[in-house]
Amino acid sequence: MKFEIAGRTDVGKKRTNNEDQFVIDPEIGFFIVADGMGGHNHGEIASRMAVDVTHDAVKKFFHGQQKAILGKIDPKVSEQANQLGSAVRLANTFIYESAKTNLQHQGMGTTIDSVAILKDKFAVAHVGDSRIYRCRAGKLEQITQDHSVVADQVKQGLLSKEDAEKSPMKNVLTRALGVDEKTDVDVIESDVKPGDYLIGCTDGLNKMVSDEDILKTVLQMKTPKMISDHLVDLANAAGGVDNVTVVVAQLR
Ligand code: CA
Repeated sequence: MKFEIAGRTDVGKKRTNNEDQFVIDPEIGFFIVADGMGGHNHGEIASRMAVDVTHDAVKKFFHGQQKAILGKIDPKVSEQANQLGSAVRLANTFIYESAKTNLQHQGMGTTIDSVAILKDKFAVAHVGDSRIYRCRAGKLEQITQDHSVVADQVKQGLLSKEDAEKSPMKNVLTRALGVDEKTDVDVIESDVKPGDYLIGCTDGLNKMVSDEDILKTVLQMKTPKMISDHLVDLANAAGGVDNVTVVVAQLR
C-alpha cells in the first residue's frame, strides 16, 4: 500500500542526551523506533545498535538476500512478520554480547518497535514500552502492549489506568532488548486501509500527551510531518521530562 511517512526525535526539556533513535526506510516501507536505557550514555549505544542491526537484517530480507529465521516461526503471521521478529532477536544477541564483553556497556538495553507496511496489512516486532497506534475513522487504537510492570498490573485488574500513570513503578520494564541472552518478541500483524495512520512513539510522548490529544492532533494536522512535529511540541510543552520520538505513516 502507498504511504507518506515522517518522524522526529527530540532530547526534551530535562535530559542532556537523547537515547531515542528512529529510522525510516520508505523504499521498503519500514520504520523503527527505539528507546535506550543504561547509564553513561550507553542507552544511546543500545538503541543505535538495535536500529542498525534490525534495519540491516530487514533490508537484506526485502532484497532477497536473507531467508533464514532466528528463533521460532509463528505460522499465524506472514513470512515478512516472522523476518521482523527474527531481525529483532538478532539485535538482542548483538546488544547482549556487546554488554557481556564490554564491562562499561553492562546493563544497557532498549525498547524496539520495528514496523513493515505490506500490501494490505502491517507487521510489528515489539519489545518494551514504546508504542504503535493505529488511527482509523476517528479512533485511536494501541496495537502493542507495554511490557511494563504497571501494564501487567492494569491487565490483572490490580491497578487502574489513572493510578498506573502516577505509579513510581511506571518506568520499570518487564522486557527489554539486550538485557538477557534471549528475549520474547511480540510479532503482531493487522490490516491497514487507505486513510489509516500508523504512529510509532517512545514513552516520552505517551507519558506526557494523552491518547485523546494524540488523536486530536492526527485529525487536525493531517500530514505525517505536521503530526509528528506537533506531537513532539506537545510533549515538550507538557514538561518534556524525557526524550521524545514520533514516527507517523499515512496510508494512501
Ligand atoms: Ca523514554
